[in-house]
Amino acid sequence: MPRPSTPRIRRLLSFTGVLVGVVHLLPAVSAAQAPASLHRAIDEAAAAVNDQVVAWRRDIHEHPELGMQEFRTAALVAEHLESLGIDVQTGVGGTGVVGVLEGGRPGPVVALRADMDALPVTELVDVPFASKARAMWQGREVGVMHACGHDNHVAILMGAATILAGLRDELPGTVKFLFQPAEEGPGGALPMIADGALENPRPDAIFALHVFPGPVGTITYRSGGMLASSDALRIVVRGAQTHGALPWRGVDPITTAAQIITGLQTIVSRQVDLTEAPAIVTIGQIEGGNRGNIIPDSVVMVGTIRSLNPDTRAQVHQRVERMAVRIAEANGATAEVEIDLGYPVTVNDAALTQRMAPSLERIVGPGLAIAPPITTAEDFSYFAEEVPGFYFSLGVGAEDLRLVHPNHSPRFFADERALPIGVRAMASLVVDFLSTPATSPEG
Ligand SMILES: [Zn+2]
Ligand SMILES: [Zn+2]
Repeated sequence: MPRPSTPRIRRLLSFTGVLVGVVHLLPAVSAAQAPASLHRAIDEAAAAVNDQVVAWRRDIHEHPELGMQEFRTAALVAEHLESLGIDVQTGVGGTGVVGVLEGGRPGPVVALRADMDALPVTELVDVPFASKARAMWQGREVGVMHACGHDNHVAILMGAATILAGLRDELPGTVKFLFQPAEEGPGGALPMIADGALENPRPDAIFALHVFPGPVGTITYRSGGMLASSDALRIVVRGAQTHGALPWRGVDPITTAAQIITGLQTIVSRQVDLTEAPAIVTIGQIEGGNRGNIIPDSVVMVGTIRSLNPDTRAQVHQRVERMAVRIAEANGATAEVEIDLGYPVTVNDAALTQRMAPSLERIVGPGLAIAPPITTAEDFSYFAEEVPGFYFSLGVGAEDLRLVHPNHSPRFFADERALPIGVRAMASLVVDFLSTPATSPEG
């Protein structure tokens, strides 16, 4: 049997050549680079702290908490940061924790983000530290699991904090650690920003990673739109109820809804520039009527809109509304369109991405690749709307991708060999960013 995983790995890795070319061909932004002695110190400290990082990860994995209930996790984080002599603020935007580490020398400010929340998923992974936690969610008792791997993010950032606190005297600037609640919803980034997490001091850049089921030893990223915006769509079509055998006596919202659904699918294919950025309009739920011989009064449709570029997002919204309202009008019906703005597009700042990618290349070499756009969403996007952001994916999957389960699966499992790679990546981004002044557009 052919191994279905192989072509994908090869495809990811084959992008590396392109990446190296891009970095070397565009000299306008110089690669951020700290002295080799600092890199050596990071690598040694990462090896020394690794057992602790693994222990934290297992502990957090075994004790997952749903969004805005991350009390135990936040306390563990706060206690550790305090033990390192880092200034700690708790209860930021709910259960968020902010740590500020001032380096021994003046310089810029850089922030690192980790999300702390778990999901209402019952774990099916057979490990000694599997979660047995349960909690109430939407009025029901559910299993709770770190099925999106945020346990790794917290442990990695705690490890990076240990390393950076150890190098404090040599750090030319300040590091902010942001441990946020509720990434899976309702969102912890906005409440943290509202609570001043990005002030005093304000970061010049922010970095975050997310584990994904690519092979251990790979890191992927892309410049510009990395993850999609996610907006909820609700359309109510109102007609006039009548007998199913006398359609001319009423206005049929069912045929109108059918035309609207078909029309919506032509927005992405016919009306927005697909070469700019992909987009998705999905109707995932439709409800109307209760009997075959009654044309009902109304039909409700619920869906989601995804886009990978803020302009595309705005265009799609406008056209969805126009399409629904005008098709309804043409049928003598009306359509009410409600678009609830969810997380924005997660945009990797182009100059920052170009500047920082070599730091990751030092860590994983040919394992660094350009990722395809990801159509799920992240509320790191709100931080990256405030200050230039760079977000990347850390491979935590087995080499045989047939054994790998996606994020949010009850069988999602992160290989611990990826933890030191994540720790080194985060610490290296910090020292490289702080050590190299940004090239100004004039200079
Ligand atoms: Zn998730
Ligand atoms: Zn996640």
